[in-house]
Amino acid sequence: MLRYFIVDILLPLLVFALLRSFFRSHFQSGRNVTRPAQPTPSPSQPNVVAGGELKKDPVCGTYVSTGASLTRTVDGQLLHFCSKECRDKYRAA
Ligand SMILES: [Zn+2]
Repeated sequence: MLRYFIVDILLPLLVFALLRSFFRSHFQSGRNVTRPAQPTPSPSQPNVVAGGELKKDPVCGTYVSTGASLTRTVDGQLLHFCSKECRDKYRAA
């Protein structure tokens, strides 16, 4: 009788408690991780050059700095592109 009690009740409870504590500690550790500071922009990346106005690339939707973007005038409107590929893609469209 005692053996059935252990197998049928204590064991499932023990497994449940272990699983619960495992998941709880797992999620808590994930939640409590302090996010690292934003990576400092590399000057080699044209998209993050400081200064200048941000304009939306009409092709891919990326915001590019006017100081670092590729531009093209379409119907008197100056458009800004993040890359040559996007500029060419716009031309093709
Ligand atoms: Zn783009």
